[in-house]
Amino acid sequence: MLRYLAGYPPALLAQVRALIAEGRLAESVGRRYPEGHEVKTDRALYAYVGELKARYMRNAPALAKVQYDMRLQAVRNALGTHTTVSRVQGGNLRAKREIRVASLFKQAPAPFLKMIVVHELAHLKEREHDKAFYSLCTHMEPEYHQLELDVRLWLTALEVEGVAGG
Ligand SMILES: [Zn+2]
Repeated sequence: MLRYLAGYPPALLAQVRALIAEGRLAESVGRRYPEGHEVKTDRALYAYVGELKARYMRNAPALAKVQYDMRLQAVRNALGTHTTVSRVQGGNLRAKREIRVASLFKQAPAPFLKMIVVHELAHLKEREHDKAFYSLCTHMEPEYHQLELDVRLWLTALEVEGVAGG
């Protein structure tokens, strides 16, 4: 049930279980992130990613393609485990320099879309989820770690409560 949260401290997992038992996980995440976004099309996503890339990663390789991917829409494919979040999550096909974002992020709070995009952009430079990778992520988004946790909570809520917050 908590596979998106593998690797997080037991005390945190206990809190999450309590919220799930009360049916309040989605609400507790959604309340903190009321702001949606207008990045609903592939074209808009391409522009959104391009803006972040131009700002923080001008020297990274050009992107051939940026798109939402319905095949990644199943919640189970949206994000991997804490230590092996990888190509399934945003489907970062490094060889072709594409970024794919699971379509369910069209409905995500704005900061969650940013977290996923930052994660995938960082992979243009850093392949592994190591210190260099996360330092690049927090350079682009100072709240990266909190956001990644909250994205995982949101995905968990989608799975167990079937709603995306609120
Ligand atoms: Zn990754």
